[in-house]
Amino acid sequence: MKVSLAEGSGFCFGVERAMDMAYKYAKEKKGKELYSFHEIIHNPQEVLRLEKAGAKHVDSIAAVKKGSSVIVSTHGITQKEEELLRDKCASVLDTTCPYVKKIHRIVKKLTAENYRVVIAGDAEHLEVKSILGYTAGNGVVVSSVKEINSLDMKEKTGIVSQTTQNAGTYNAIINGILEKAFLNRCAEVRVFNTICDATKNRQKATLELAKKSDIMVIVGGKNSANTRRLFEISAGILKDVYHVEGAKELKKSWFKGKKSAGVSAGASTPAGLIDEVVMKIRKIGDDK
Ligand code: SF4
Repeated sequence: MKVSLAEGSGFCFGVERAMDMAYKYAKEKKGKELYSFHEIIHNPQEVLRLEKAGAKHVDSIAAVKKGSSVIVSTHGITQKEEELLRDKCASVLDTTCPYVKKIHRIVKKLTAENYRVVIAGDAEHLEVKSILGYTAGNGVVVSSVKEINSLDMKEKTGIVSQTTQNAGTYNAIINGILEKAFLNRCAEVRVFNTICDATKNRQKATLELAKKSDIMVIVGGKNSANTRRLFEISAGILKDVYHVEGAKELKKSWFKGKKSAGVSAGASTPAGLIDEVVMKIRKIGDDK
C-alpha cells in the first residue's frame, strides 16, 4: 500500500512561534506560579508537555492566582479577558498568532465605524470567541449558509472568517450574505479574506491527496478546528476518512483492500505524532 503525507502537514508558523515563546517563558519563570490560560494549542499531548514544563492549564481567570504569570493561548482572548489578566498577573505572555491579531484589529476598526461584524466560523471555538470579544456586542457568528436566513441585516456589515475556515464554506457564506444585503437594500458590505495562508495551503494539499487516495487519515486533536476541516474536506471526496489523535487509534480493518492511503495533519499536530501514524500505516500495509 502506498502511503503519502499531504504537503505542509503539522505545526504551522503560528503554532511553532507560540510553542517556542511558551517554553522560553516557562524556563524564565521556573519555580514560580505559572499558568497557561486555555490550551496553548488544540493538541492534548502538547498541552501536557507544557504542563510538565511548569505552566498549569486553566480555563478560567478565577483559577489564576494573583501576582502569578500567565501564557495566553495562540487562539487569542477577548479584550476584557486581557484587561483582567493584566490586572491580576505580574506578567502576561501573549502567544496569539499574528494572523488572529490582525482579525482583532480589523474587527475593532469596523466596530468603531459602526459596522455589524459577521464572523464565519465555529461559535464554540476559542479564536472565534476572542474575535467576538472585539465587536462590543455588535457581532454575530455564522457557521453555515443555512444560518444566514435568521441573520438580521444591518445598514453596514463587515465579514471576517475564522483563520482556519474552509475556503469553500466561507465563499458560500459571503455570497449568501451579499444576496441578502442586496435584497435588504443594505448600504455597504465589506469582506475580508482572513483565512491564513498555512490553512489555505494545507486544505488544498489535503484535497489533492484525497483525490488520489483510497483512504485518508487525519491526525490531530479532536477539538482542533483546522484538523476537523481537513476531515470535512476529505470526507467530501472519500467515504473512508478517519480522524485520529495518535497511532494507537488506527485499526487494521480500515486498510483492507486499499492500495493508497493519504495522511494529513492539523496545524497543531507535532511532527513526531505524524511520523508515528505514517510508520504504523506503512507497517499495516506491509503486513497485509
Ligand atoms: S493555523 Fe494560521 S492562524 Fe492558526 S496558528 Fe497557524 S498560522 Fe496562525
